Amino acid sequence: MDKADKTGTNLSRRELLAGGAAAASLAALSASASAQEAIGQPLLGNPQLPDMPSDRMRWAIVGLGTFAVGQVIPGFAEARHSRITAFVSGNAEKARRLGDAYGVSRFYDYAGYDEIANDPEIDCVFIALPVGLHAEYTIRALQAGKHVLCEKPMCSTVAEAEAMVEAARAANRQLGVAYRVHFEPNNRETLRRITAGELGALRHISADHGFSANPQYPPHKWRLEKQLSGGGSLFDIGVYGINTSLMMLPGDRVVGVSAHYSTPAGDARFAEVEGGVDYRLRMASGINVQGSSSYCWSPYVSRQRYFGADASIEMQPATTYDDNRILLEGGGQPPREFRAGNPMQQFAAQVDGFSAAARANVPHLTPGEMGLRDMRIMEAIYASADNDGAVVAVNIPV
Ligand code: NDP
Repeated sequence: MDKADKTGTNLSRRELLAGGAAAASLAALSASASAQEAIGQPLLGNPQLPDMPSDRMRWAIVGLGTFAVGQVIPGFAEARHSRITAFVSGNAEKARRLGDAYGVSRFYDYAGYDEIANDPEIDCVFIALPVGLHAEYTIRALQAGKHVLCEKPMCSTVAEAEAMVEAARAANRQLGVAYRVHFEPNNRETLRRITAGELGALRHISADHGFSANPQYPPHKWRLEKQLSGGGSLFDIGVYGINTSLMMLPGDRVVGVSAHYSTPAGDARFAEVEGGVDYRLRMASGINVQGSSSYCWSPYVSRQRYFGADASIEMQPATTYDDNRILLEGGGQPPREFRAGNPMQQFAAQVDGFSAAARANVPHLTPGEMGLRDMRIMEAIYASADNDGAVVAVNIPV
């Protein structure tokens, strides 16, 4: 979510427009403005994949909530290998209204979901449901013969994640987790600088992500109910810190995990899930990733810091939809803050990357196995926090 979502009150411009009549004009404007730029662009984040023929992969969006309507669906306007052909929703009126706005004419409800198996106009499915429903709807789509890109966090438990990966293998279809940061230009630039050695040897990473959960706001309400959320702040927002930090440590391995809860005592919001957790990932390379996640912070925080022997990078914010930036310090130069690209590119780049991977039937840049990895790490974080910070020994390759 971006900072606007997280307040529960201050909806972004895209959210206000999308879902209404204005969405069509926004999409058209966005498409015309970006069409020239998009032509000839490489598949951001997936340079190893061949470019695709002009026919686009056809997508069904499952769950027409805040994120799908505000970000995912408008993002397709800038995609060049992907288009939406179907909506799956429990709200037929909303689905048809969005269909009118985006030129989508195929509709399913949850009871009729398995019928997508007989729909040749659907190649890929995007799961944008509450987390507790991810495993079921992902597995049903894979069994229907579709490729699936599932929102983060992948699901509620490691066992579910394993079942999802196995379902993809059995169906010979691709499963990805929608870790959009891997397709975001500023985070890709940070990865490039770190792996090129521009910070010198990387010594430490810190990751802080949080916002204030508002139980009156429907998209926050289910996040506070364990059955639908799977977990608390760690699952929803802490997972960005874990996944983004590990993105910068290719080839490393998590060997130990420790954590403490930081949930405020007596806060009625957190009867079912934790309000906050501070964690440490011990890496085989000797680096520690020091992280925190919270549902009790204001304003919204999305901060990543990378400390090298010669220089450091701070990204604040690091994982928003539209505002990520890089502060480079050290290396004998004055501090410099800059943007390496427009963060909004990440949405189209992500679905185009998945479309290309699905067409070639090769793993996506952020495959199901990466989601399973992060589920294992989060399970270890909870195990340590449940045991007052005792170190949990793990052996989890990045
Ligand atoms: P919302 O509550 O806004 O939307 C969820 C949608 O799921 C609902 O609108 C509804 O759509 C459908 N749904 C089906 N069953 C239920 C149910 N029992 N309770 C509630 N909703 C139901 O949530 P978000 O859009 O914020 O989150 C959806 C997913 O996207 C989550 O997995 C979340 O983690 C992820 N997300 C990812 C972000 C990112 O940056 N990558 C940012 C924000 C969210 P309908 O009415 O059409 O049936």
